Amino acid sequence: MSESHPTETVEPEDRARALQSLLVDEGLASTDAIDEIVSKFEEDIGPMNGARAVAKAWTDPEYKQWLLEDASAALDELGYTGIEGVDMEVFENMSDVHNVIVCTLCSCFPWPTLGLPPTWYKAPPYRAKMVKHPRRTLQEEFGVDLDDDIEIRVWDTSAEVRYMVLPQRPEGTDEMSEQELAELVTRDSMIGVERLAGKHANELQ
Ligand code: FE
Repeated sequence: MSESHPTETVEPEDRARALQSLLVDEGLASTDAIDEIVSKFEEDIGPMNGARAVAKAWTDPEYKQWLLEDASAALDELGYTGIEGVDMEVFENMSDVHNVIVCTLCSCFPWPTLGLPPTWYKAPPYRAKMVKHPRRTLQEEFGVDLDDDIEIRVWDTSAEVRYMVLPQRPEGTDEMSEQELAELVTRDSMIGVERLAGKHANELQ
């Protein structure tokens, strides 16, 4: 992987546009091909791949352990790898630990598992506030009220690794199939700005 953080404060959109025109100018890619890739990530992938991996981890302890120990390989096994998601790390939410992912420098996001990043994820207020005041940001911006005894771990993307949160399995889901469980997993819960712990399946459907 040669991709890295920009060292200048160029907006990601501008960088993308510059890169796109360069690729097109050099005959390396057509705008149609680029549009197709973007639409693939926007419409086909979305956060469903991540949700399926989470549901699998909830129902298969061995897979869960693999996902936490070697996320890149465990996600690759499901075919959820590729651009912006080759090197992955997954952090498990627990009753006393809550994880959040952010990229303070730009907008690094695990595309193959969560799709394209939401607009607010790329916006400076989220990037600046979440690292400095996670508890307050979760409460004020996302309505997530965490007890003081829950430790918040903010994972700032700082290398070529992309992060994802493994949320806790909601209540009332014992009888559910893996596929039904996957439908309960939200994108926001895998970013860490929503907490599924303590929620009932009914609230999520
Ligand atoms: Fe980034």
